[in-house]
Amino acid sequence: MRYALVVVIAALGCAGAPEVPPVDLSRVEFVDLSHALDSATLYWPTSPSRFRLERLAYGPTPAGFFYAANTFAAPEHGGTHLDAPIHFHAGGLTADRLPLERLIAPAVVIDVAARAAADPDYRLTTGDVEAFARAHGPIAAGSIVLLRTGWSARWPDAKRYLGDDRPGDASNLHFPSFGADAARLLVEERRVAAIGADVASIDYGPSTDFVVHRIAAAAGVPGLENLTNLDRLPVTGAVVAALPLKIAGGSGGPARVVAFVPIPR
Ligand SMILES: [Zn+2]
Repeated sequence: MRYALVVVIAALGCAGAPEVPPVDLSRVEFVDLSHALDSATLYWPTSPSRFRLERLAYGPTPAGFFYAANTFAAPEHGGTHLDAPIHFHAGGLTADRLPLERLIAPAVVIDVAARAAADPDYRLTTGDVEAFARAHGPIAAGSIVLLRTGWSARWPDAKRYLGDDRPGDASNLHFPSFGADAARLLVEERRVAAIGADVASIDYGPSTDFVVHRIAAAAGVPGLENLTNLDRLPVTGAVVAALPLKIAGGSGGPARVVAFVPIPR
């Protein structure tokens, strides 16, 4: 038995341990795709509550050291956040159960900022997706598809970002986003990991049927909303990590979304 063990160790020694290159973060620039949560954070006009932060402690303690701590509360859907499939699909995965492969993946950025500037109700078309593929190569299964509209420059001005700033009234919203056919193409045919946009919803402002949410959720594809800094990403080549709070049973949640952008040698 001892002899066999020695042979195995010797064999391993001869073959050499597999070379595992270290993760080289010196070749990567981090880009934060998240808005900070604060009193200005935008929520859907019908949201009954907003982000709230209360100070529990701040300052010197009787023991002589400094101590700070807060408590916070927030709706799941507002600010930079994730929609889990359960948000629009009975039986869909909740935020805590989403596989990390859907949340950390190569990103592609489809830029419709020029079209959205001309039409605030612009919706991504299948033609846009096909034109992207012709220019930059096919969108690989397992990608995170990010739609750049340029709308994050309007954050947190509700009137300009949502199209209307009347509390409680979501009937007159205007902003661009995904179209239904493009969403079907991406999630059902291209089988992307997730879709996201730098606007308040993966459906465009005037939507009342939230069809893109329903298409994505039915396919188990999470959505990312209220992203920012998409102009700092390459069209392809970045890796995005979109990690929501791990709320057990959550229909989504505030997320810190970051990109790893390779630095050219
Ligand atoms: Zn949401």
